[in-house]
Amino acid sequence: MTYEKSIQAFKEAVNLMPGGVNSPVRAFKSVNTDPIFMESGEGAIIKDIDGNEYIDYVLSWGPLILGHSHPEVVKAIQEQVAKGASFGAPTLLENKLAQIIIDRVPSVELVRFVSSGTEATMAALRLARGYTGRDIILKFEGSYHGHGDSLLIKAGSGVATLGLPDSPGVPADIAKNTLTAAYNDLEAVQTVFEKFGKQIAAVIVEPVAGNMGVVPPKPGFLEGLRKVTEDHGALLIFDEVMTGFRVDYHCAQGYFGINPDLTCLGKVVGGGLPVGAFAGKREIMEHIAPAGPVYQAGTLSGNPLAMTAGIETLSRLTPESYEYFKKLGDKLEAGIREAATKYIIPHTINRAGSMIGLFLTNEEVVDFASAKTSDLELFAEYFKLMAEEGVYLPPSQFEGLFISTAHTEEHIEKTVGAFHKVFAKLAR
Ligand code: PMP
Repeated sequence: MTYEKSIQAFKEAVNLMPGGVNSPVRAFKSVNTDPIFMESGEGAIIKDIDGNEYIDYVLSWGPLILGHSHPEVVKAIQEQVAKGASFGAPTLLENKLAQIIIDRVPSVELVRFVSSGTEATMAALRLARGYTGRDIILKFEGSYHGHGDSLLIKAGSGVATLGLPDSPGVPADIAKNTLTAAYNDLEAVQTVFEKFGKQIAAVIVEPVAGNMGVVPPKPGFLEGLRKVTEDHGALLIFDEVMTGFRVDYHCAQGYFGINPDLTCLGKVVGGGLPVGAFAGKREIMEHIAPAGPVYQAGTLSGNPLAMTAGIETLSRLTPESYEYFKKLGDKLEAGIREAATKYIIPHTINRAGSMIGLFLTNEEVVDFASAKTSDLELFAEYFKLMAEEGVYLPPSQFEGLFISTAHTEEHIEKTVGAFHKVFAKLAR
């Protein structure tokens, strides 16, 4: 495989955009190589600008649950763009997508569309703060909820300390209102609530963490969050930007049987076009303008093309789709495990349906600290060798693999074959 055109394109890009990209992880920094520039995708296969082909397990970081360029999704978007790309006025498409979400997501009675997951979480926090009249929020270390100021926060020293900015430009005055705890550590959360309970507006959590690799909740963790928030008059926000319509037909909340007060959506809900949403109980959502006083707006919110992609994508998913994902996921997991065991590669595999996380460590991974025990140098080698074998993986240890309805058993078999070849080369 050669990457000459990609290498040249990246040289040009760094003079045009900071770091050559429009979102940091695309620069492939954590795998110590130049990024691959993509040209086209069809089903489970993507092609780069040098003509190399890959089985894609990134799927645009989750949205493309039907695979690339699903012919009927493409046709519907083409028909809509011919009618009009944007009106800044209500359309029937918004009603239709909102209705699908309300029908499928157990806790949702009203939906507000935005254009990204970041917007969804920022607005959900403002709503939670406006609704409760409190300022503090609690998030989990290693979780990513987009790049809003209140959410780009790292833990202070120990639990229940003030949060610290995780990026220059985030004012300390904002960071101090974000507390952090370790994922899956319910006791730490309870300690925080004992100390700050009356000031906490909300807990925001990925019901399956997907931004430190894949880390499922321990039994009782989400239940405990539901109880402690209820007991203290705080809201529970599920950030389902990644898990929504990915983990289950009824999202992670349906899968685990926990009803949050607010839900953030993105990725799959827009089928590859820029969409996010925040949603929840009517009584809370009616605090949003113009129904209520908490302000939130967007020129392109509910955009007709994006709504069309979302409607066409969600309508093609059925409960059986998720059984299919599980079947393929089981096969992939078993294949990776067998290859890693054979070549004595350190491995821990975490699963939540079609979200699969391979950590290059033998430690159990339950939170960010344990995720970080992965061998990141080995990961960089493994990523590059897998690409050489025609398998495109997320270029970061702290992201999961995704499967689409376009993936087949044959794709999985080829992928497992690649794992065997690559692990054989990496065997120590
Ligand atoms: N929340 C979660 C759980 C996410 O995984 C992401 C993106 N990876 C976001 C929020 C932010 O979404 P966006 O990139 O669309 O702003």
